[in-house]
Amino acid sequence: MTDFKLLIDGNLVDGDFSMDVINPATAEIFTKAARASTAQADDAIAAAKAAGQGWAAKSFQERRDKIIVLADSIASRADEFARIITSEQGKPLTEAMGELAWTDGYLRHYATLELPDRIIQDDDAAYIEVKHKPLGVVVGIIAWNFPLLMACWKIGPALLAGNTIVLKPAPTTPATALFLGEICKDIFPAGVINVIADDNDLGPHLTSHPDVAKVSFTGSAPTGKKIMASGADTLKRITLELGGNDPAIILNDVDVQETAQAIFNNAFLNCGQVCLAIKRAYVHDDIYDAMCHELVTLAEAAIVDDGIKPGTQIGPIQNKVQFEKVKRFVETAREDGKIIAGGEVMERGGYFMRPTIVRDVTDGHEIVDQEQFGPILPVIRFSDIDDVVNRANASESGLGGSVWSKDIDKAAEIAARIESGQVWVNQHIAIGPHIPMAGFKESGLGVEQSVEGLAEYTQVQVVNIAR
Ligand code: NAD
Repeated sequence: MTDFKLLIDGNLVDGDFSMDVINPATAEIFTKAARASTAQADDAIAAAKAAGQGWAAKSFQERRDKIIVLADSIASRADEFARIITSEQGKPLTEAMGELAWTDGYLRHYATLELPDRIIQDDDAAYIEVKHKPLGVVVGIIAWNFPLLMACWKIGPALLAGNTIVLKPAPTTPATALFLGEICKDIFPAGVINVIADDNDLGPHLTSHPDVAKVSFTGSAPTGKKIMASGADTLKRITLELGGNDPAIILNDVDVQETAQAIFNNAFLNCGQVCLAIKRAYVHDDIYDAMCHELVTLAEAAIVDDGIKPGTQIGPIQNKVQFEKVKRFVETAREDGKIIAGGEVMERGGYFMRPTIVRDVTDGHEIVDQEQFGPILPVIRFSDIDDVVNRANASESGLGGSVWSKDIDKAAEIAARIESGQVWVNQHIAIGPHIPMAGFKESGLGVEQSVEGLAEYTQVQVVNIAR
């Protein structure tokens, strides 16, 4: 018996296995969650397949209404969700409530989207119409940094477009997704949505299954590559939202104090565990020392504690594997640059590290070239715009990037030269349900969000009638 059960074919069921869910603030067990066997994964796919025709036959409006009921139901359980998110993911309760607000906004926006049939020719020769048909069974696989938001990023558009879904959360944050499944049980017909949890073992089975039409994945680039390979045999449709190593280029005309605060917020949100967080700050030589000084002041003032405590600004790193990875980054940063804030593990239970600022480090070192996905920010000096644009682009990643300046036109011109899916001026992590989200290079494949993202959950069909 576990506190959080799988949702398969409209039933909440125990897993063939169970697993402990660790609270990263204490490194102790927070709860027990059901864990699916391969046979249960097959049951979930079979249920999704069986429910497919009925769900696809519903009108867009009927499906849209259900998405709104889902948003209402999540909102009515917001406090419970927030506590589960904080307890298993680690982020402060205020950020967990922020994740709920984001989720609400995304779901309600999806419910306004449409993919109407389009007549592209209607004359003496032919009548030609373009339709968007559902694909069938979608598998949604997500990372552990936004367990509710990312689940709904998959469920919302997949179901609205007329597909059915099997959702699989990350093994360290199953409770939020399984609780979501519990809520979905009373909203959607049996089999339309299935939620199963694993111990990092079911991914290859799900992504190669012949009855799965599409995989929508959010996670790391190495896993994304494996998914592409495993879907190749059956030519699955694949959307990949992968890692980033976002540069922020800060010109010498900014208000240093104000910009430092914005850079800090966008680097350390969710303890730096955001695909679109600032992971490299390129600061102009003229203001380099002043910017480092401000960032240190902010890092030293940040309240790092258990996210459940009121007033906490930064919680723990989400899991032990990531904690060890971040500790290794800090060690290399100590050799390749100068740590001017943080850099030390907090001696208490849980996976805590204070926000860490590294200066006098440059490209070609691990801490700059690789995605840290933790509370570390390297601050890199530059003096020439062309040079810094080249350095920003010398990365396998291309998710986001920003330019900071009082001269908006100049900043926009520089931003447009950054090779990433989203470029910002005087802001970062500015995303929304109406904004297409995509990655250049190894940051992804395809688009999520907006009507472009919705279209990726469909197959284009042309109906061509001779006249
Ligand atoms: P990960 O790739 O290790 O795991 C992500 C998910 O993939 C988990 O559910 C995991 O169980 C599953 N998985 C593992 N091996 C698999 C396989 N062979 N086949 C199918 N599924 C498999 O990533 P993570 O460590 O959980 O997440 C961190 C990464 O995710 C970072 O790189 C981050 O930037 C990225 N991310 C990207 C976005 C985005 O929208 N672009 C958002 C959040 C996180």
